[in-house]
Amino acid sequence: MATLPAPVTMDKLVSLCKRRGFVFQSSEIYGGFNGVWDHGPLGAELRNNIKRAWWEDYVYKRTDIVGLDSAILANPAVWQASGHLENFTDPLVECRNCHNRFRADQIDLTRNCTVCGKFDWTDIKQFNTMFKTFVGPVEEEASVAYLRPETCQAIFVNFRLVQGAMRKKLPFGIAQIGKAFRNEITTGNFIFRLRELEQMELEYFVRPDQADAAFEELLGINVEWLVNHGVRRSKLDLYEHPEGARAHYSRRTVDIMYDFPFGKSELQGVANRGDFDLTQHAKASGRDLDYFDDETNEKVTPYVIEPSIGVDRSSLVFMLEAYDEEADKDGVRTVMRFHPRLAPVKAAVLPLVKKDAALVALSHEVFASLRGEMLVLYDESGAVGRRYRRQDEIGTPYCITVDSQSLEDRTVTIRDRDSMQQVRFPVEGIRDEINRRLRLPWTRPD
Ligand code: ATP
Repeated sequence: MATLPAPVTMDKLVSLCKRRGFVFQSSEIYGGFNGVWDHGPLGAELRNNIKRAWWEDYVYKRTDIVGLDSAILANPAVWQASGHLENFTDPLVECRNCHNRFRADQIDLTRNCTVCGKFDWTDIKQFNTMFKTFVGPVEEEASVAYLRPETCQAIFVNFRLVQGAMRKKLPFGIAQIGKAFRNEITTGNFIFRLRELEQMELEYFVRPDQADAAFEELLGINVEWLVNHGVRRSKLDLYEHPEGARAHYSRRTVDIMYDFPFGKSELQGVANRGDFDLTQHAKASGRDLDYFDDETNEKVTPYVIEPSIGVDRSSLVFMLEAYDEEADKDGVRTVMRFHPRLAPVKAAVLPLVKKDAALVALSHEVFASLRGEMLVLYDESGAVGRRYRRQDEIGTPYCITVDSQSLEDRTVTIRDRDSMQQVRFPVEGIRDEINRRLRLPWTRPD
């Protein structure tokens, strides 16, 4: 048995993502655009599946969480009140010699510049990472607006409207998925740190005395969500932000860290924001944003627990975790072992030979019966072994092969990506069978 190849590297993943249509550099034909990436056909599918899984688990399966889809632009007063205009900053330092700029907390300022090798740093200054734009036809200070750097502020601003419309009682949550923009000083590590990103955020409102328990519960639920979708527990870690080093709004923050090929870094943040946001917006807008409990006749300013995760960063983790290579008789088999719920393509239909008209007709019949509610591919080119490998490389859980026996008894084979086992199954029930399998609990094969 040949030895197994080395584990996943960023280079291998980036190359697979480009080759197989997951992630492309933005504006590639013009040399790219820093911190911005486009998602190809399979990347779009993976992201949709991540977002759908998150929405189903946090909104549809629970009775205490509702959704929101707010705008990217907002009245700039929102960012004044939330503290973003003042505090949404990163420490910036510049090398006077080569004029490259760095995040001061990410480099060692006792050493020479990593780009030009000289030692000539400026003082550290705070750089606001919100993108500015102008709204309306006049480019003047009065028409400045900001692209939201996080999705959650609109949840706070809409708190009373959502609560009233949906008649929610504490504790309850508001979930939102959407784009956010951060003018990061340095980007990099592929889709890890972006300037245009997408977030999945939950703001869970509780009575202040329930905040600590809700924090623990939500932290646990969020770790399990990652593990249930294929992230090895051994690759995750918790980092408790120490007192004095937390964001201005936070009473407690724990980062769920992932062991990336470039080092341990934040995958998700869980914060207890206390009543900071509702209090600030109530003060600045002059509106009452308290919750009125009509059973006890008392007013409460809820605390909020916020789990926040990037769609991009989590898709990077799901891809890193899925990536596998196995030595086999033909060399190396690359397999993306995605959780079937997240896999971009759910099934592929492969006629064993493409010259047999009856066999091709039956294959098209099977293909048509599967299309519509999931992405299914049809592939008739090349040896069937090559075709299986093509599907393995994009993580397709099931390959359905139509062969000569299919013409006799209307059965096809279903090949499982992970076990590589094949079973025969009647054409008539194939759609239900694939749907049934996709809903089964899944565990990583290792
Ligand atoms: P950092 O300290 O690394 O800049 P942060 O603590 O400001 O990050 P949060 O505001 O907690 O990040 O953002 C919540 C989540 O949104 C992060 O855990 C991450 O998954 C995602 N995220 C934040 N910034 C980016 C980015 N620039 N690119 C991609 N994803 C991001």
